[in-house]
Amino acid sequence: MPILNRAAEMQDEVAAWRRHIHENPGILYEVEHTASFVAEKLKEFGVDEIVTGIGQTGVVGIIHGRAPGRTVAFRADMDALPLTEITGAEWASKLPGKMHACGHDGHTAMLLGAAKYLAETRNFSGTLAVVFQPAEEGGRGGEAMVEDGMMDRFGIQEVYGLHNRPGIPLGQFAIRQGAIMGAPDKFEIHITGRGGHAAEPHNTIDPIAIGAQIVSNAQLIASRNVNPLRSVVVSITRFQAGTTHNIIPETAVLEGTVRTLDESIRDFAEDRLRTLVQTIASAHGASATFEYERACPVTINHDAEALYAAEAATGVVGPANVDANTDPMMAGEDFSFMLNARPGAFMFIGNGDSAGLHNPAYDFNDEAIAYGISYWVKLAEQRLAS
Ligand SMILES: [Zn+2]
Ligand SMILES: [Zn+2]
Repeated sequence: MPILNRAAEMQDEVAAWRRHIHENPGILYEVEHTASFVAEKLKEFGVDEIVTGIGQTGVVGIIHGRAPGRTVAFRADMDALPLTEITGAEWASKLPGKMHACGHDGHTAMLLGAAKYLAETRNFSGTLAVVFQPAEEGGRGGEAMVEDGMMDRFGIQEVYGLHNRPGIPLGQFAIRQGAIMGAPDKFEIHITGRGGHAAEPHNTIDPIAIGAQIVSNAQLIASRNVNPLRSVVVSITRFQAGTTHNIIPETAVLEGTVRTLDESIRDFAEDRLRTLVQTIASAHGASATFEYERACPVTINHDAEALYAAEAATGVVGPANVDANTDPMMAGEDFSFMLNARPGAFMFIGNGDSAGLHNPAYDFNDEAIAYGISYWVKLAEQRLAS
């Protein structure tokens, strides 16, 4: 089965929805505009039940098949990013400083397209829940929906997510079993030494020299401590101290991120960084604080569900266009909260040769719409086969 004819016919209509969503972006939980557009469309499609306000501004639509059966959920994200768009597109953001630079406009539109198709055809048994979440971009919106009882309330047994990926050709899909997206943590280090004259360093405790030792030792986590066949990123992205050339400052602040694909390496990196900061600071007579903040968990595809997802994509574009063992990304994805609650899988869809995610020149590729809708429909009809 290639692209569904009906999905191809819907492409222009769904692209118009996508562009409407794109013009009206909302950050984190402030996606009221998109959430009400979604609810309005679901109503128009004759979806059986529409629940708004789950996880603050999330929306769930329930579509029953022709007979009772299992319940599967498909999830799209609705939030945009705090960026000013430079695409110059006709449908560019109307709100300066807010922009759909991660393609969540496309994800929402494709899932709406699939909901329309499946509410019309209902060629399945059981129930499909279409889930539209807020605050994916670091706001724990996925967790908010799960904590609001989304899984139990609708009896969801499996969950699937879909995200575009620039660099993967249009009409191709990519997935893997196991970890597919990282845990994006951040940390902040405050070093307090003793300031003084730069010509008398022996009378000071130099927080810059100490901070530099921390930066250099932190690199040993990746190069000397973690198995080279496993993954970890430790990046110090901010180092601020001092005012001029003849003063050794009193304090220094360092900030950075740790990215891992494995919860045990994540724990190790946090512990080791804390130890390095405390011991290096105290070895030199300074004091230091270390704050480590965990964002979402590692996004881990369940083995069987990753295969089901790959099979559905293969049904749409053929085996040559599905990479079932793609490299993971070290960026985070808060669909991980849903995958920790239920078995499921997270799939990438090719966005072609576009600007990268989170770039102000990025735009979702509307040509991907028919592929995305076809994938969702195929997956629904397979996982809820009559
Ligand atoms: Zn993003
Ligand atoms: Zn995203």
